[in-house]
Amino acid sequence: MSATIIDGNKIGEEIKQEIIKEVEALKAKGIAPGIATLLVGDNYGAKMYRGQVEKNCAEVGFTYVNCNPAESSTEAEVVEEVKKLNADKSVSGILPLRPFPAQISDSAIINCIDVNKDIDCFHPSNMGKLVLGEPTFPPATPAACIEMLDRLGVDFTGAEIVVVGHSNIVGKPAMLIALNRNATTSNVHIFTSQKGNTKKHTLGADILIVAAGKAGLVTKDMVKPGAIVIDVGINRVNVLDADGKPVLNDKGKPKTKTVGDVDFENVKEVASAISPVPGGVGSVTNMMLMKNALRACKMQHGIS
Ligand code: NAD
Repeated sequence: MSATIIDGNKIGEEIKQEIIKEVEALKAKGIAPGIATLLVGDNYGAKMYRGQVEKNCAEVGFTYVNCNPAESSTEAEVVEEVKKLNADKSVSGILPLRPFPAQISDSAIINCIDVNKDIDCFHPSNMGKLVLGEPTFPPATPAACIEMLDRLGVDFTGAEIVVVGHSNIVGKPAMLIALNRNATTSNVHIFTSQKGNTKKHTLGADILIVAAGKAGLVTKDMVKPGAIVIDVGINRVNVLDADGKPVLNDKGKPKTKTVGDVDFENVKEVASAISPVPGGVGSVTNMMLMKNALRACKMQHGIS
């Protein structure tokens, strides 16, 4: 069997076009959706993500606000910035970019974001709604996994879904969203692996969502024939030659590449469908965040 490769770039592009149409319709009514990122200081990874969000905003026609208090800011000063963004009518959604500097606690900032502008579901109130199965802004990455499965035509009811990874931003909410769709869900994590039990669970999965951040974690023998595999992981690994030695670049440093958590080449022989890395969940995630901001904008203007 050779699996269908789930093309995240194509799905991301489809969603982008859907969003652009809605943005045009809103703009015709004088309404412009917008996102503000909150980056305190200049963490490299957070800055990269900020640039991606800014680019996505430009592509779908959102306004964009770069809120970037200095690294030395106090918690109270950053809270004041969040309050300004809460009150700013041009900002539909606020995205805090972590890590924050040590003097600023995540919860102090997240808890003061307006729940109606919390487009990546960081606020405990929105996460609580997710647990209760009430409408909320589902976190972008797990929402992307579910969107990809929806666009494959998956019926969640009673499906055996196993999520590898139990972080608050990916694994746990992925399991909750699937559970809210009446799937039979299990969640495995590092401690499951330490007990040697992960394979026992993954082998029972009709749908396997993997978000651990460990290259090569899921191998062919851990996947039920015909299962659908969604790989969320992003890992940088060395490119190896036929003898397993690192290939060097022209500066004499090991060449690297991005891979997921799943042994893609071998797992695609048993899975019925699989998402690649790169070109899988990432592109869809970007657009799910935009979709949440669009929804926030419509809610703020009383449009259903
Ligand atoms: P995290 O470090 O917060 O959590 C990792 C989870 O994996 C933990 O629950 C841990 O228990 C589990 N885990 C680690 N090693 C394991 C093992 N050997 N067996 C079973 N479980 C194991 O990471 P995260 O923020 O949830 O991100 C997970 C991965 O997804 C990372 O590679 C990250 O870069 C990637 N990611 C991708 C996107 C995207 O849009 N594509 C978005 C967010 C995160």
